[in-house]
Amino acid sequence: MLNRNTLLAKLLRQFTSLLPVSKSRRGTCVRCGNCCKLPYTCPFLRSDGQGLSRCAAYPIRPSSCRMYPRTEHEHLTEETCGFRFE
Ligand code: SF4
Repeated sequence: MLNRNTLLAKLLRQFTSLLPVSKSRRGTCVRCGNCCKLPYTCPFLRSDGQGLSRCAAYPIRPSSCRMYPRTEHEHLTEETCGFRFE
């Protein structure tokens, strides 16, 4: 069951993904795939068979995926994500 706040957070990320990424963001994507499960598992999420995630629609992925995590406030996958904010 999807939580209302989680869905609202996803909608907000979709709108704010048109804004610039925070200058304090460091790091890189380590392909954990956890942002592809916010708030439900994306149907385009795949595994490379070696423990890393990949996107089956990568060239045409939406801006919310391209920009994640855009700000520290929107960073919901800190435990596994390769990005951080200083
Ligand atoms: S949570 Fe971070 S490291 Fe994991 S797939 Fe998303 S951007 Fe990449």
